[in-house]
Amino acid sequence: DHARVANFGAGPSALPVSVLEEASKGLLNFQGTGIGIAELSHRSKEFQAFVNNMESLIRTQLSVPSTHYILFTQGGGSMQFSAVVLNMLARYRLLHPERTEEETVLDYVITGSWSKKAAEEARRLGGAQVNVVVDSRGFSESEKAFDSIPPHDAYKFTEDPALIYYCENETVDGVEFSHEDVSPASFPFQLLGKDGGLVPLVADYSSSFMCRPIPHLADHAIIYAGAQKNIGPAGLTILIVRQDCIVDVDAAAKLGAAPVPITMSYKTLADSGSLYNTPAVLSMYVSGLVLERMQRHGGLKHYEETNKRKAEKVYEVLREGQEKGVFKPKVKEGSGSWMNVVFEVVGQDAEKEFLAGAEQARMTGLKGHRSVGGWSNWRKDHSRRTLILMYTGVRVSLYNAVTEPDVDRFVEYTRQFIAQHS
Ligand code: PMP
Repeated sequence: DHARVANFGAGPSALPVSVLEEASKGLLNFQGTGIGIAELSHRSKEFQAFVNNMESLIRTQLSVPSTHYILFTQGGGSMQFSAVVLNMLARYRLLHPERTEEETVLDYVITGSWSKKAAEEARRLGGAQVNVVVDSRGFSESEKAFDSIPPHDAYKFTEDPALIYYCENETVDGVEFSHEDVSPASFPFQLLGKDGGLVPLVADYSSSFMCRPIPHLADHAIIYAGAQKNIGPAGLTILIVRQDCIVDVDAAAKLGAAPVPITMSYKTLADSGSLYNTPAVLSMYVSGLVLERMQRHGGLKHYEETNKRKAEKVYEVLREGQEKGVFKPKVKEGSGSWMNVVFEVVGQDAEKEFLAGAEQARMTGLKGHRSVGGWSNWRKDHSRRTLILMYTGVRVSLYNAVTEPDVDRFVEYTRQFIAQHS
């Protein structure tokens, strides 16, 4: 459709046109039922079959072993900030009823705004100590920015925590763990607890889910992701949960753990096949179509190759711009994300010009997150006596549905911009 623009937004973000066309048909008539998907009972056999198929599409493409459940829920990544803590503290209570709140520790690896938020929610919920394993801002030379993945020896884990939490890709800051150095000591964090088993490892994959394989997936206790970046519309949250993390939260509450709201309990989701209550039917439908399309296109291997090329092209043109003094990267070499590339355009109003030019060339969604940016970007609004945080920096999101021709157009535009400004 020539009315559509290239969408580099961070989420909700671009979806494949072919899926949107198919979905618009399903909105009127789902699989020949004569009923649109948004009007169909989630208990109908057609929808149940659709959900089962979604599960198997994820299981096959990500190679999820039978030790792990794949669950669907709502509430987004943010609800999982809470659900992860409640379910894992219930599990810990059942295993160690004698341990006090002081002896119960949650280990958080903080590499950006989202893992920081998750740690804050854990602290807010209480019932345990929150140990910050590392905070990558301490490693920044300039302002206190989340601009790198800290070196391996900087991580200070607790001896036997109830979980280790990390965010694989920090959407706002553009910081991501490199998959080139995958080893127990570095990434992901496969540490042994006192009982000799692996400490439950929890990963937020919201903005990098199904863009490439997940290293050591089977060694994770919980992996979760909101659908609204690589998979589909907002409203659906996907969970991959190891069997031993699906616990009787009511039994744990009797031993003193915090009660878990019934819709947030992983056991509720597992026992009901993710259909305890009405799910986000329409989001699931569109997501299912995206997953089917991914499978037809060769699965994760295809997406890994394409996404790697897309990111390399963008980083290359940024390096050219950096050498000419036109751009300044926000993230240190080796920690840059494949999915969200964040940088500054150097010079008064240069960023505005860059973004306006991109809009004119029918490329949108490139404005950085409002909380990224230095002091120079704060504006004092005297009329309202508040500090207003400006949208600063450029963020190019390169999710699965952003096509290579879209990326080529962005690179071409950026190269022209460099030529005109150096
Ligand atoms: N984690 C990450 C990495 C995210 O990018 C986001 C949303 N952009 C969230 C968590 C929060 O997700 P939601 O808005 O679905 O609650």
